[in-house]
Amino acid sequence: MNEIITVEHGSGGFKTNELINKIFSKHFANEILDKMEDAAVLKVAGKIAITTDSFVVTPLFYPGGDIGRLAVCGTVNDIVMMGARPQFITAAFIIEEGMDTDTLEQIVISMAKTAKESGVAIVAGDTKVIEGNGGLYITTTGIGKIIAEQISAANCKPGDAVILSGTLGDHHACILSARMGIANNIVSDNVPLVEPVMTLINNGINIRAMRDITRGGLGTILNEFAKSSGVSICIEEEKISVSESVSGLCDILGLDPIYMGNEGKFIAVVAKEDAETAVELLKQNEISKNACIIGHITSRGIDSKDNTVTMITPNGASRRISIMHGEGLPRIC
Ligand code: MG
Repeated sequence: MNEIITVEHGSGGFKTNELINKIFSKHFANEILDKMEDAAVLKVAGKIAITTDSFVVTPLFYPGGDIGRLAVCGTVNDIVMMGARPQFITAAFIIEEGMDTDTLEQIVISMAKTAKESGVAIVAGDTKVIEGNGGLYITTTGIGKIIAEQISAANCKPGDAVILSGTLGDHHACILSARMGIANNIVSDNVPLVEPVMTLINNGINIRAMRDITRGGLGTILNEFAKSSGVSICIEEEKISVSESVSGLCDILGLDPIYMGNEGKFIAVVAKEDAETAVELLKQNEISKNACIIGHITSRGIDSKDNTVTMITPNGASRRISIMHGEGLPRIC
């Protein structure tokens, strides 16, 4: 029965138990969570990667996803980018009064489905209810076992290839359209990146650095790589793909896809000799079928102390790409 959530649901008493049993335990059920102890006990061998992230996206539902799917993908993808296989997730929910149980359950079902898709178990959680207007915020923490060591933003070397896994801007353009009430066919790319990345690792691709393209966009990530590794980077604009509908929205609103966030694309810097194989492997997977080498790592100019990112435009001009300044679209993730 659909019910409006009130502070009583966060009291720790009867209503809280009801919410946990009827929604969270029901859909997240697994051996570890079901024990309902004060803390989950995990068996983890070797090096692990751990990360945490909060999700505040509005609207809660959008074409291609929802805050629940995003909360799992966002954390899983950060784990994967470090060369680790995601294994466990914890989830904390801050629910504003006025949210209803049916909507919450729909989001929880989406999280459970995305966790399964990613190969992770949700092993611990928390619920708080605060005054408000029906909003919802989710914090997820993820743990993964490191499989490929040495993947680091500081590991890029001159000659390495820069591979982009697909089109830019989809999630950002989708949220922006929903917020502005613009009707179009743009769908968020909200997806776990476990499969394509594991394929690269399992095939022995020498990955130097990897990052999922979220807030700040490609431009910001490449600048972070250049600075951390003490190198420069040159990319070609022609090689960067943007879907027709996203490109159309960017033209109208004066947005630059280079600084727009995705939730299912990544950048991988790989050793030159592995680059073609890496692209072929990525193309075999639906979610990275548009993978392409977009540029290369270069050494810094002899007289330059700067680590620059340059983009060659289709007419041969070069444009300096700096990190994103100012606030992009807030509450995109
Ligand atoms: Mg990331």
